[in-house]
Amino acid sequence: MKRHAEIAGAGFAGLTAACALAQRGWSVRVHERGQRLRTTGAGIYIYENGLRVLAAVGAYAAAVEGAPFAHTREVRDDRNRVISVHRWKGSRVFSIVRQTVINALAAAAERAGAEIVTGSVATAASADGELVLADGRKLKADLIVGADGSNSAVREAVGLLWKRKFLVDGATRLLIAKTEQERAAADAGTTVEYWSGTRRVLYTPCSENDIYVALTMLDRDEIAKATPVRKDAWERWFPHLEPLIDRFGEQGRYDRFDLIKLRRWSAGRVALVGDAAHAQPPNIGQGGGCAMMNALSLAVHLERYAEVPAALAAWEKNERPITEHTQRMSYLLGLPTTWPPLLRTFALGWAGRSKWLVRQRTKTALHWPTGTAP
Ligand SMILES: Cc1cc2nc3c(=O)[nH]c(=O)nc-3n(C[C@H](O)[C@H](O)[C@H](O)COP(=O)(O)OP(=O)(O)OC[C@H]3O[C@@H](n4cnc5c(N)ncnc54)[C@H](O)[C@@H]3O)c2cc1C
Repeated sequence: MKRHAEIAGAGFAGLTAACALAQRGWSVRVHERGQRLRTTGAGIYIYENGLRVLAAVGAYAAAVEGAPFAHTREVRDDRNRVISVHRWKGSRVFSIVRQTVINALAAAAERAGAEIVTGSVATAASADGELVLADGRKLKADLIVGADGSNSAVREAVGLLWKRKFLVDGATRLLIAKTEQERAAADAGTTVEYWSGTRRVLYTPCSENDIYVALTMLDRDEIAKATPVRKDAWERWFPHLEPLIDRFGEQGRYDRFDLIKLRRWSAGRVALVGDAAHAQPPNIGQGGGCAMMNALSLAVHLERYAEVPAALAAWEKNERPITEHTQRMSYLLGLPTTWPPLLRTFALGWAGRSKWLVRQRTKTALHWPTGTAP
C-alpha cells in the first residue's frame, strides 16, 4: 500500500520532506498558507551539508544556478579595519537568492509526484494522523509533517514545545541590484560583516544581479529595526558604507531571532521539522541547512521502519545531536553582540583564529547528512 503524508508548510523543510518522501514512493500533499510559494528573507548561505541534501533530492543544479561560490568572509570593526578573515577551504558554500532555492525544491517535489496546494492553512493536527485545515477539512494520513515554521500551529496542537527563547537581537534583510561595476567584478565570493556598536551590516553578493544585505541590531533598537530602513541613521553609524546604504529600496523585513527546543520531535504520527522544531539564530547560517538535513533523514528513516512512530523515534535519536550542536554554536556565537566593542573585537578575532572553535563552528557544514552518500 502506498503510504500518504500531509505536510504543513512549503519552506525549506516542507519541500525537502515532500521531495524525499515522494521519491521513496509516498503520496504527498503539501499545504502552504501563502497564495504563492514566496519566501521571505532575501538571500541565504547554503553550506556543504545543505548542498549535499539538495543534490540528493535532485534540486542542486537549479538551486545554485547563477549563485556565486562564497570563499572568504571578512569581519570588520567600526573603523572598517579587518579583524578576522575566514576562508572556506575544502568545502563549498553558496550564497543564493532564497526564492531560487524554494523554486528548485518545489520543482523537484512536483517532478517526484508531490502535490503542492497554496492558500491552504493548517490549524491543528493530532497524533493519530490527522491534519486540520482552516477551511474545516480533516485530512487523514500515515504521516503528518509540521514544517510550518517557528510559529507552528501543528506543534502547538500536539503540545511538544519545551522552550522558546526570543533573543536580544534580530535582522532586517533585503536584496539590492548590483551596480555595473559589481556585475563586472571577477570575484563575487567575498562577503563582509561590518560592525558598529551593536549593529552590523552583512554584505553578500548572491546572484549575477543581486546583493543580499542583512542588517542586524538589538530588538530594542527601534530606529535600527525600522522598515523601510532608516538610511539616514544607518549612514551615520556606517559612514564608510554610505554609497551602499543609499541604494537600499523600500523593501526589507525585520525578524527577531529565536531558539526553539521540543520535548520530542514527534507525537504518534506527527513529526516536526525545520524551524517548527529547532529554530536557531542565524549566526552560523545553518537553520535552513538543518531543516533540509532533518527533512531528508525523516524520509530515510521512514523507509527503514514499517511503523511510523518507531521510525520517528529512531530519526530523532540519530539527528538530534548534530542539530543541538548547531543550535548551541549559533547561540554562543551571538553572545558577543552585546559585549563592549573592544571585548567583542577581541572575541571575534579570536573566534576566527581558534582552530578548535572553527572546527566546532564548521562541524555541521562538513557533516554528511543521512541519505547522502559520503
Ligand atoms: C536573518 C536570518 C538569516 C538567516 N540566514 C540563514 C542562512 O544563511 N542559512 C541558513 O541555512 N539558514 C538561515 N536562516 C534560517 C532559515 O531561514 C530558517 O531556518 C529556514 O527558513 C527554516 O525553514 P522552514 O521550512 O523550517 O521554515 P520557514 O522557512 O519559516 O517555512 C515555513 C513555511 O510554512 C508556511 N506556513 C506557516 N504556517 C503555516 C500554516 N499554518 N499552514 C500552512 N503553511 C504554513 C510559511 O508560509 C512558510 O512558507 C536565517 C534566518 C534569519 C532570521
